[in-house]
Amino acid sequence: MKNLILIAPPATGKGTLAKALKERYGYIHISTGDMLRESVAKGDELGQKISDIMKSGALVPDEIIYELLEAKLQSSDGYILDGFPRNLEQAKKYEEIVANIGGEEAIVLVLDIDKEKLKTRCTGRRSCPKCGRIYNIYNPEMNPKDDKYCLDCGSEVIWREDDKIETFEKRYSTYLELTEPLIEYYSNKGNLYRINAGGTSGETLNEALKILGLGE
Ligand code: AMP
Repeated sequence: MKNLILIAPPATGKGTLAKALKERYGYIHISTGDMLRESVAKGDELGQKISDIMKSGALVPDEIIYELLEAKLQSSDGYILDGFPRNLEQAKKYEEIVANIGGEEAIVLVLDIDKEKLKTRCTGRRSCPKCGRIYNIYNPEMNPKDDKYCLDCGSEVIWREDDKIETFEKRYSTYLELTEPLIEYYSNKGNLYRINAGGTSGETLNEALKILGLGE
């Protein structure tokens, strides 16, 4: 199973695609956003610092990310990196880590979607604070139970601070400035594939499966 990196603007559906691939094919889902939210939940000084940065829509310092990620990559094969790398430095660090642990570099899937569609997805998005499952109140296929509860673990879903419109705008410009340049970087390396993510989550999954040679 190939290792994968997902690159997409915020709220495109990276997490939903990763979850589907995990459930069907046993990929290991590594989400740096989820790891950071776990650190925030601990409520210590570091967690508070991370929380403030995430609410601002900026990126968390690279060193914090590397610390969280390195051990995880060491013990995983057949993984999906969701939310990492987010800038060129992280992409180079990733190559260094892979070389150190003797692993195989991931192929890159870019999820394309237009900004207006994204805004609706983002403001309608609700998340389970416990298991991380994503819902959308504007999409009947992705509603939580009774409009409120996680279908997997029963927790009450929340509207994440960083999914509110002001933070979305900041996250989107952070994406354009720092993350989008990775598309050219990986394109030049010749290991990048593009997917139209403007349709349903099922359609996005099917496109990914075709690229991975797993389509029916
Ligand atoms: P996500 O859940 O991937 O949308 O990430 C939510 C927030 O966590 C981002 O807006 C960043 O503040 C932070 N974050 C997640 N992954 C990274 C990363 N690789 N580098 C820096 N910050 C990150």
